[in-house]
Amino acid sequence: MRLSEQEWVETFKGIYQGEVGFDIPMKDYTNLLIGGPADVFLRPEDPLSIRNLMVTLKKKNVPFFTLGGGTNVLVRDGGIEGVVLSLKEFRRIEVLKETENYAELFVEAGVPLQKLVNFCKERGYAGVEGLTGVPGSVGGAICGNAGSYGCEMKDTLVSVAIMDASGRLDRFKAEGLGFGYRSSGIAPTDIVLSANMKLGRDEKEAVAARTGEFFAEKKQTQPISERSAGCVFKNPEGTPAGRLIDEAGCKGLKVGGIEVSIVHANFFVNAGAGTAADYLELMDRVSSAVQKKFGLTLEPEIRVVGRE
Ligand SMILES: Cc1cc2nc3c(=O)[nH]c(=O)nc-3n(C[C@H](O)[C@H](O)[C@H](O)COP(=O)(O)OP(=O)(O)OC[C@H]3O[C@@H](n4cnc5c(N)ncnc54)[C@H](O)[C@@H]3O)c2cc1C
Repeated sequence: MRLSEQEWVETFKGIYQGEVGFDIPMKDYTNLLIGGPADVFLRPEDPLSIRNLMVTLKKKNVPFFTLGGGTNVLVRDGGIEGVVLSLKEFRRIEVLKETENYAELFVEAGVPLQKLVNFCKERGYAGVEGLTGVPGSVGGAICGNAGSYGCEMKDTLVSVAIMDASGRLDRFKAEGLGFGYRSSGIAPTDIVLSANMKLGRDEKEAVAARTGEFFAEKKQTQPISERSAGCVFKNPEGTPAGRLIDEAGCKGLKVGGIEVSIVHANFFVNAGAGTAADYLELMDRVSSAVQKKFGLTLEPEIRVVGRE
């Protein structure tokens, strides 16, 4: 169902607290600086507002998409139908328990992942050092089981609080959430609200040193200051996708404003004027080249969303 702005405003009265925007360009909310407008953009301030929204959206049959930091998505140029939900207001980190050997944290989904990494570094909490330099939010990192340098988000998760599309809130043990390589069993219509995590303890200096070493290596090997969505394709078993793309002769290949990074071939960077259509065509060309040379089908790591 497509509602007018006035109807939306009426709908939100008394049941929703937070920012509301209409026709909001998603390029302002993605690391790639790409993406057409979201019909409605919402930034709720409390869980009850999210629950009320879920009930209302379901009743009115309006689709929604939960956006984290926008660092692993490609939003098509046609924008997003229905509601885009941002959890940026949910940014609390709390220490639940601290012993000599471990620390338990409560972390909300909108916390920037690097805020969590720094929080742990400053206190000598060990286990997320490898995630240094991975942008985006804790919610996005949980959904995609973000990982780097042998460290994956799932390794420190104890449980995750998830609201489903009917507004039902449950806490799930991490083992039951089907985590795999850059994947989880969390459904696209589930909303991650928070997580409980368990970290090890170490000397602050040791945690800081490991974090610093990983970050220095990341800076050397990935175009972290350029506009990208991270790795475009998952690594096929045993071979980095970046090497396959490079050996298929695609490094530096360009479509419109999007280019295969010369620093790391599994990153496509937007030099400024790139569109989602350019990006998708480059994905096609690169995967065809890899298929032709190695007989391998590359599977996307990025999430492509929005109207065709
Ligand atoms: C320079 C650069 C380097 C990167 N390096 C790495 C790396 O080393 N390792 C790695 O794993 N990734 C890497 N990435 C990719 C990306 O940063 C991670 O995948 C990150 O965890 C995505 O989080 P996000 O909040 O930006 O999610 P988004 O891109 O906003 O969303 C990704 C998916 O998660 C869903 N989602 C987000 N938040 C929620 C929520 N609260 N509830 C339900 N669903 C949600 C979205 O609907 C979408 O399907 C890199 C990206 C860049 C740009």
